[in-house]
Amino acid sequence: MEHTYNDLLKEIGVDLALHDQLMEYNTRHHTMSYASCANRPAAMRYFDESFHASHGERVAEVYGYRKRGGKSIGTFCIYVPDEIALAAEVLPIPLCGGSHWSVDYADKMFPREICPLIRSTFGMAFSNTCPYKKLKDGVVGETTCDAKKKAWDLLKFEVMEVPQKKNERDRDLWRAEVRAFKEYVERLSGVRVIPERLKASIRLLNRKRQVLQDINTFRKLPNPPISGLDALLVSQVALNQDLNAFMDGCERLIEELHRRVEDGVSAYAMEGPRVLIAGTPSPMGNWKVHYAVESSGLQIVADETCTGIRYFRDLVDEAPDDLEGMIDAIADRYFKIDCSCFSPNTERIEHVKKIIEEYAIDGVVQNILSFCHGYNVEAKVIEDMLAGLGIPSLKIVTDYSYEDLEQLKVRIESFRELLNSRNAA
Ligand code: SF4
Ligand code: SF4
Repeated sequence: MEHTYNDLLKEIGVDLALHDQLMEYNTRHHTMSYASCANRPAAMRYFDESFHASHGERVAEVYGYRKRGGKSIGTFCIYVPDEIALAAEVLPIPLCGGSHWSVDYADKMFPREICPLIRSTFGMAFSNTCPYKKLKDGVVGETTCDAKKKAWDLLKFEVMEVPQKKNERDRDLWRAEVRAFKEYVERLSGVRVIPERLKASIRLLNRKRQVLQDINTFRKLPNPPISGLDALLVSQVALNQDLNAFMDGCERLIEELHRRVEDGVSAYAMEGPRVLIAGTPSPMGNWKVHYAVESSGLQIVADETCTGIRYFRDLVDEAPDDLEGMIDAIADRYFKIDCSCFSPNTERIEHVKKIIEEYAIDGVVQNILSFCHGYNVEAKVIEDMLAGLGIPSLKIVTDYSYEDLEQLKVRIESFRELLNSRNAA
């Protein structure tokens, strides 16, 4: 499908031969992972197609937007406030990479001993296989981990300072950072952020979060009509596709999920223990742990990650009508994100407890990307809290490569046996 866009990809400097290799690798792992799903909703077709469109049709849309004079920025992490970018008519394009194919290409500039998310993203840029490399007017990163901070310095990106604590003075710093971001996007596009436009983008992004919440609500049911792998794909697509098209795709999925519930249709062929995936995100291209878990007979019914609940849990307060009030409301919403970069990160513990209750979780799989020290160390706090609740947990520290898949499956299968024996007792 992506071949249709080869002329465009070539024009924007993509190395077509390497890009074919990247897409072949990703498609192979997408096919393998989703072939393991017992009973997928028909409406997932849009999300499967969006995986390919992210390197084809979506690229053409962004290209067209820029040809018409529009501005766009690459963004890292879920701290960059999309509401403000959109209100300044700047299109945000999240750039986090999820493919193992590109990680070695990052060696040109970065050490191997850093998180695969960073290596994958920059590997795509350095191998000229990222179609968005030339389709942006700037890149905005944040200070959530040391590897990213230092990478932004090397690459001379704009940086938003995410505080590391959650006191009042940290909130003030973050609100100032959000205001500086507003000025940055206004300078880029020459479009002032005015209350009417900001109000509209707040509502739009809140609606997006609400449809994601609605889809995830179905996962609370005893027989979830959507699998964890499919819910992950929805979250991954949320980060790339046109907002309105994405929400239409979600509405179609929600309608089908309602019908499935009425007809008693489950996404799973057999009953299995219900697990929560907690920890680091799984951007598009990375389905490994979800595949290993669900193909081992467990049901992933919630994701406590930035490609899960952490992305859509909190809405922006729509009450303020004045510009300053709206900016504060946006800043406060993003300040609630419970990334492991915060010290202490007590909110996260409370959030995990709440998910366990709401989603009737039998066990927790902590999925930590290699070299992500924040989540890896914090895993001990989560593990201790879970032990106190009597909830078994399994910690997986892994990268994007599929080399350890069989090893992971052995560990996950014994975890499933443990959960099954507890459920049977
Ligand atoms: S885990 Fe933290 S750093 Fe990573 S995407 Fe989420 S908020 Fe950003
Ligand atoms: S997963 Fe951890 S190490 Fe990797 S980019 Fe996110 S915060 Fe940094």
